[in-house]
Amino acid sequence: MNATSAALFEKFSKLKTNAGNHSPSLTTLKVQMPEIEIKVDACFLSNPYATELFLKYFKKELLDTGEINNVLEFYPSQNNEIASLVGQHLKIDPSRIFIGNGATEVVQAIIHNFVKDKIIVNIPTFSPYYSFALPHTEVVYYELKKEDNFTVNPDEYIAFVTKHKPDSIVLINPNNPDGGYIPHKELIRIVEELSWVPTIIIDESFIHFAFENSSLALPSIASLIDQYPNLHIVKSMSKDFGIAGIRCGYAILPAEKVSYLLDRGFLWNSSGLAEYFFRLYTRKDFILEYEEVRKKYITESLFFVTELNRIPKMRVYPTKANFVLIEILNGQTSDEIATELLLTYGIYARNCSDKKGLYGQFIRVATRYKDENEYIIRSLRTIFR
Ligand SMILES: *Cc1c(COP(=O)(O)O)cnc(C)c1O
Repeated sequence: MNATSAALFEKFSKLKTNAGNHSPSLTTLKVQMPEIEIKVDACFLSNPYATELFLKYFKKELLDTGEINNVLEFYPSQNNEIASLVGQHLKIDPSRIFIGNGATEVVQAIIHNFVKDKIIVNIPTFSPYYSFALPHTEVVYYELKKEDNFTVNPDEYIAFVTKHKPDSIVLINPNNPDGGYIPHKELIRIVEELSWVPTIIIDESFIHFAFENSSLALPSIASLIDQYPNLHIVKSMSKDFGIAGIRCGYAILPAEKVSYLLDRGFLWNSSGLAEYFFRLYTRKDFILEYEEVRKKYITESLFFVTELNRIPKMRVYPTKANFVLIEILNGQTSDEIATELLLTYGIYARNCSDKKGLYGQFIRVATRYKDENEYIIRSLRTIFR
């Protein structure tokens, strides 16, 4: 490393430290480090085709008509009104829907209000599930092993939970950061056998990228909520709909828990733009077009993963999400590879050095547009040659 890149490396490391268990946002990077040119953002996990689709509607219906003025000047609907729309769309009793300013707010509300003495969190994971835990809550980690490709072994998991007797458990399906997927049947078995656990949180934030057969049908378990009253389903719209910037997420909870939360706040926690998105989400015309971009993106992601798998000296873990966890096996560290990707190639990847439960050197790379994916493949091929 020469002096200039060492200085850049130093500066980048500092930004990463300031972001805690997350990565610096694209805006932070651009403002703080104007000297680096980011060509591809493969750190954040969104479907860029879905962002384009949203923008098309946004332009046609809000900008071109001037309706944007109302969206900005006036209050959006209250939480329970947006919940009504979403509930009707999902065919789930609206009194069970809690709308969040992003799913992170939903996770925070659940962890702070309904998780009691002990929660089991699988690692590696999305950090808020343990970092938001209150001081009196014991967090017990269930380690997913790289030897098992980070998959959940249902029997082992059920035995582990039974031994620890927690009041809450979390399963992210597909999981972030490894993309590991629990097949529908296995998940049902886990939920059945652990029906004594009061709070079972299933985070389906990446479910729109998962599939079990060639029709690419959505394998969500949201429709089973009536059969399993202890299910708490968390859903972010940020990644699969490509709209992290407007903060949309929701949970499906027992109705009394939704009332409990609404009695204590969250009245206008969605913005006008978020409400506009939720209205689109419940519309047939939008969803029909969305299904096309969803399937196109999945198909391209599959190709991306296949190509990544052919690069030597790195290991790509099986994924059912829109990203891959890559283990670096050429003797370099994830800091070195992430920095080289950024400084030499302008590719922003997620350095996983801060992720609990990852033993080794890992980076996470998101699927992007086709030409961006090809650029990532070419760059990694050069690095690992
Ligand atoms: C990103 C993410 C969330 C939260 O996303 P929001 O942008 O706050 O909606 C929740 N769960 C998982 C697993 C995630 O990766």
